[in-house]
Amino acid sequence: MKVPVDEVAVIDLDAPVLPAYETKYRGVVRWFVWCRHCREWHDHGPAEGHRDAHCRDESSPYWRKGYNLAYAGKWWDRPGAG
Ligand SMILES: [Zn+2]
Repeated sequence: MKVPVDEVAVIDLDAPVLPAYETKYRGVVRWFVWCRHCREWHDHGPAEGHRDAHCRDESSPYWRKGYNLAYAGKWWDRPGAG
């Protein structure tokens, strides 16, 4: 079920929530989420809410429902960083 959180964003209550880390990539602010299915970072526009999956792995369960981004801090605050 999709629920609006503000004028533009929705969250999908049936989709998982992934922590998003903010950094600039090629001069543009992007949010990065670690995808455990693709074993890579997927980048999205910098706002909380539901996204379609950016998975390259077609067997990823995220394809069906996407996922919700939740701001978790700056890129260097991510677990395992330096
Ligand atoms: Zn993925």
